[in-house]
Amino acid sequence: MPDDSNDTPDAMTDQGMDGVLDVTPETPAGPDNGDGSPQHSIPDVLPVLPLRGLVVFPFQALPLMVGQPRSVQLVDDAMRGNRLVALAAQVDPAVENAAPDQVRKVGTVARVLQLLRRPDGGLMVAMQGLERIKIEHYESESPYLVARISLYPEESETSLEVEALQRNAIAAFQKLVGLAPYLPEELATVVLNLEDTRQLIYLIAQSLQIDLEVKQSVLEAPTLGEKLRKINDVMTHELEVLELGRRIQGQAQEEMSKAQREYILREQLKAIQRELGESDDQQAEINELRDRLEKANLPAEARKEAERELSRLERIPTASPEHSVIRTYLDLLISLPWTTTTGGEIDVQKARRILDEDHYDLEKVKDRILEYLAVRKMKHERGIEGSGAEREPLLCLVGPPGVGKTSLGQSIARAMGRKFTRLSLGGVRDEAEIRGHRRTYIGAMPGSIIQAIRRVGTCNPVFMLDEIDKVGSDWRGDPSSALLEVLDPEQNREFRDNYLDIPFDLSKVTFISTANSMDSIPPPLLDRMEVLQLPGYTEYEKIMIATRYLVPKQRRANGLTEQDIEIAEDAIREVVRSYTREAGVRNLERQIATLCRKVAREISERVGEGPTDAATDPDGSDTPDAPGAEQHEDSAVVVDVAVPGPADTGASESASDAAVPAARAVIAEQPTAEDAPVQDANAEPTGTQPSPDAAQAPVPMLIDAVAVRRLLGRELFRNEQAERIDRPGVATGLVWTPVGGDIIFVEAARTPGREEQLILTGQLGDVMKESAQAALTCVRSDSARLSIDPALWMESTIHIHVPAGATPKDGPSAGVTMALALASLMTGRDVKHDLAMTGEITLRGKVLPVGGIKEKMLGAHRAGIRTVLLPERNVGDLDDLPKELRDEMTFVPITEISQAFAAALTDHSVVAAVASAPVPA
Ligand code: ADP
Repeated sequence: MPDDSNDTPDAMTDQGMDGVLDVTPETPAGPDNGDGSPQHSIPDVLPVLPLRGLVVFPFQALPLMVGQPRSVQLVDDAMRGNRLVALAAQVDPAVENAAPDQVRKVGTVARVLQLLRRPDGGLMVAMQGLERIKIEHYESESPYLVARISLYPEESETSLEVEALQRNAIAAFQKLVGLAPYLPEELATVVLNLEDTRQLIYLIAQSLQIDLEVKQSVLEAPTLGEKLRKINDVMTHELEVLELGRRIQGQAQEEMSKAQREYILREQLKAIQRELGESDDQQAEINELRDRLEKANLPAEARKEAERELSRLERIPTASPEHSVIRTYLDLLISLPWTTTTGGEIDVQKARRILDEDHYDLEKVKDRILEYLAVRKMKHERGIEGSGAEREPLLCLVGPPGVGKTSLGQSIARAMGRKFTRLSLGGVRDEAEIRGHRRTYIGAMPGSIIQAIRRVGTCNPVFMLDEIDKVGSDWRGDPSSALLEVLDPEQNREFRDNYLDIPFDLSKVTFISTANSMDSIPPPLLDRMEVLQLPGYTEYEKIMIATRYLVPKQRRANGLTEQDIEIAEDAIREVVRSYTREAGVRNLERQIATLCRKVAREISERVGEGPTDAATDPDGSDTPDAPGAEQHEDSAVVVDVAVPGPADTGASESASDAAVPAARAVIAEQPTAEDAPVQDANAEPTGTQPSPDAAQAPVPMLIDAVAVRRLLGRELFRNEQAERIDRPGVATGLVWTPVGGDIIFVEAARTPGREEQLILTGQLGDVMKESAQAALTCVRSDSARLSIDPALWMESTIHIHVPAGATPKDGPSAGVTMALALASLMTGRDVKHDLAMTGEITLRGKVLPVGGIKEKMLGAHRAGIRTVLLPERNVGDLDDLPKELRDEMTFVPITEISQAFAAALTDHSVVAAVASAPVPA
């Protein structure tokens, strides 16, 4: 008896069916009357429809496919009768035409609700489960199974346990609905609203996708409690399985997402970039960087880092700030001269020539530089370069500004065929300035060493570390320790800049440092250095430097030739004396540049306007002639030789007034007689040049001292000696400063009354204050020999002042000067005013040696001093002085302060009380 039943819910709405037959509009009766007893009148004998793979529960409504002819006949017959059928599951769903022993004994009686006949002769039957039944025995097996049955109602109980089990079941089922995708959401609310426990149990049992065996056991279980326990067990198991499944799925998804997310995002990014039209640019940029990287010849470590950053760059959109950070870094990596060098063999002969070409004199320094170069050359030739044990000293050029330190460095570079770069360390306090900031900081940059190397473009330049004496240190770290690392050949092979973060080899760099003063060079650095002193130049040397080097240089720099301008020696002397006061030649060079510039302007104005009066002041202030100016016009080139000497210039304001007629001194190279309003005598032609055309007969414009005053304006400095030393109580001392030696005036004054014994002003340091005290005691104890009335001390307050208060002064070397100022004050005898002094004193009046003699003597000479009192033990230092300075000056060695009094005080004595008011400065 073939029988075929399947759960096919969709089939009921299948439009492909032939048509609806035997529609029974009867609504299914409720199977239960509420107290568990069946409500239907069920006959004892019913046809039995065996179900394959299916258990039908009471209350369950479902469609069934009926295909076996015996089953079709069964349903047809039932339709003709009471429409009731006994449904029971087959033991083995695979068996066709199941015999009675293959059908379960417990089943459900169901009513046929609707019938749909299919084209293949089969039926689609809508059924409604009614009551549980037990099959007692079969009455017949043909044409279908018919059996005697009995109702098998569930034993209902209402215990606490059942209630608990029921709630459990509801909760578990609701959870399941949330987890199992095959359970429709509505079921969660449906189970809540079911009041009948049986209904609840069977609804849950039918909804779950569980083993047939289990479903059958739920149906067969005698009590509700037992049924609930069964479905709870099943649901707990189901929940665990689903939960685990979900967890597994979650993990898998996570793993998948890690790999895929990036991929997807990158694809999206590409799409976005394509949309924004960025991808091409970015790719082009990356290609360009890669090209440059190929050609850059980086060392392995740098190369690796560059590759890594490049691949990072590819992944970062151009708009991101990180993009430009990486880009900048890569730029640096690629553009650093890792292996680029210049220069080959050092040629010492050629080096000598170059040094001489660029610098006047400086013999000692040049010799030492040549020795340095020779040693390098030798080491290089013998292959012992850079061996740590006998490391070469670092050259350090020490001297005031403008003495040629930088230009010596440039010449060394030229001599070695190397490039030149410099770094000013003045005011550097932060180690990071030398060594850079880590790239993690926003706006991080490489340190100045790496930046300079990048700029210069080779890895073996001459590298000048300027103002190494001005390196400071504070909480931001000690730059000098970073410098030590830079300078130490043991360490600088692997110099590590924080930003670069890859070692860079600095061992091929030739470092040279400069300083104004040795005292403030950090000791660990000084230890590594060989100091070459450049104390400053004498007037004579300056004039030589100017005529041989500075004038030609500035002429070129201002587009002039020898045919345009000539600067006479007396003009340079005038500039040196009245327009500069310096140890070096920097301002001198500047003033010469000004002269050249002004002349260039005059020439171009003249060319533009046609022949005009050459003497017109470029500043528009025409200067009237002074009487007698014409006297000097003795050639085509009129030269005004009436230059006041330095002593005169200092005399009064009128010195600059005297410069007024100098307007004439700028010469009309093309004397223009026709030029009517001749205000200037110098415009007069001599008659030797008939043509006014400058181009035809160029005559250089000669600048002399008078022209200097016209072009540069009022003199900036003048000799103050005579002005300042005009009464007792003033003496001239000598000081050493980082910008060269200089003179200072020490003024002493006495006021009646004795509120205070000694007042000291002028920003004096402690050492200087103490030496003032010592000087006072020393002079006072010598009162008798100086014929000072001891009573005078008792009734006076002494005030010592050192003007130019803006400059802090310290050191013991003004002791002699202060003693002399005091002695002069108290004796009323003037100090000779062309005389200056230096030296420390003891209380007993002994004179002790001091430092910086060479610079002080240069400073004294510059200021017009011709006699200097100095400690005897310093006389040896005078050997280093230029010859012309030794020839022009007189040096008086002293061992006792009394010798100073004797040599410096005039016999001219006024009443001591005169100096009772402060001396006007
Ligand atoms: P520093 O570095 O010591 O401050 P610079 O090297 O800048 O001084 O020198 C200033 C100018 O003076 C430069 O133009 C330099 O060529 C020139 N100069 C200095 N000393 C000499 C010298 N002995 N011979 C020729 N020119 C010099």
